[in-house]
Amino acid sequence: MNSIKAFGASAETSPLAATTIERRADTDRDVRIDILFCGVCHSDLHQARNEWRDFMPTQYPCVPGHEIVGRVSSVGSAVTKFKKGDLAAVGCMVDSCGECAACKANEEMYCVKQATFTYNSPDPHTGGHTLGGYSEAIVVDEKFALKVPKNLDLAGVAPLLCAGITTYSPLRNWKVGPGQKVGIVGLGGLGHMAVKFAKAFGAEVVLFTTSPNKTEDALRLGASQVVLSKDPEQMAAHTGTFDFILDAVSADHDVNAYINLLKKDGTMCLVGAPEKPLAVASFALIFGRKRLSGSAIGGTEETQEMLDFCGKHGITSDIEIIPIQKINEAYDRLVKSDVKYRFVIDMASLAAA
Ligand code: NAP
Ligand code: ZN
Repeated sequence: MNSIKAFGASAETSPLAATTIERRADTDRDVRIDILFCGVCHSDLHQARNEWRDFMPTQYPCVPGHEIVGRVSSVGSAVTKFKKGDLAAVGCMVDSCGECAACKANEEMYCVKQATFTYNSPDPHTGGHTLGGYSEAIVVDEKFALKVPKNLDLAGVAPLLCAGITTYSPLRNWKVGPGQKVGIVGLGGLGHMAVKFAKAFGAEVVLFTTSPNKTEDALRLGASQVVLSKDPEQMAAHTGTFDFILDAVSADHDVNAYINLLKKDGTMCLVGAPEKPLAVASFALIFGRKRLSGSAIGGTEETQEMLDFCGKHGITSDIEIIPIQKINEAYDRLVKSDVKYRFVIDMASLAAA
């Protein structure tokens, strides 16, 4: 075990503050990564504030952070993928059972025994719970460490590890591509990556937003139309026209308004995970045999595929870099949908914390 600096919450009502945590002693399959940048996901906020208490209650102290990029500082004797000095990334998971059908298919996020998430999961190594990337370093089995394309801006890569894969995976699963009309709901961290990917896959992209001031950005990012979702006339103009809608909203909202916009047999997929359950009107689904679905992050293999795709196509996240000392301010701005379009922590700032 060894002590490192971190930033975390000691209770659901406490702001995040500097703290010290222990990392496990490295095993022969582990890579130790000095963290350079860590993205700020709305899930970090949900969990630091225990907003998912009914599904995944938060263990404190909570050190969030699952959009991690850094440099390998040491490798165990059995590690083959990395050597000291390599860039490496870690997303939302650090382990899984490895034996169930989902794990065998490299879809570890659907592990029947539940994957070990990067933070707020039981940690078999320490007997405590896992602690995330708002910290100096992380120790992880090499299977859950990803290779980082060398041609991309490193800070802009960090959000790909959650916002990127969480939108890439459902768009790939539902085979979004040319000839399809695709809706993205919410232009935040996930939503802006969804717009970029749906456009890169060749679909016609319509962005739904509650923030009129995001219109120009949405068009620049790849949307061909922007709909202000609070305007019933603008919504009605799209009734029954979408093949697929990806909902990346972090707060309570009316999903039925979007289901009504699907074509017959169209699919709406939820990736947003608001605190409270959403109300679904049966009739919205019944007429048109429509499907409401969900999707969680993505497996190790697909995450690597997504990173390689981004390397090939020059895709990164649009970011605002912050020092760790501004994290509570950043959370307050996230609640107000005021981020363009992902906060990324420059972890060098932790030295002064
Ligand atoms: P974010 O950056 O805060 O973006 C959320 C966006 O939702 C906002 O920018 C806003 O877009 C829209 N929004 C917020 N409040 C709203 C309201 N009351 N009504 C309608 N729209 C509203 O959050 P994020 O990091 O992208 O995460 C989005 C959600 O996905 C969170 O719940 C997060 O926990 C979840 N998530 C799920 C997975 C998964 O595996 N499924 C992975 C990561 C995150 P506009 O300003 O454009 O309206
Ligand atoms: Zn996330």
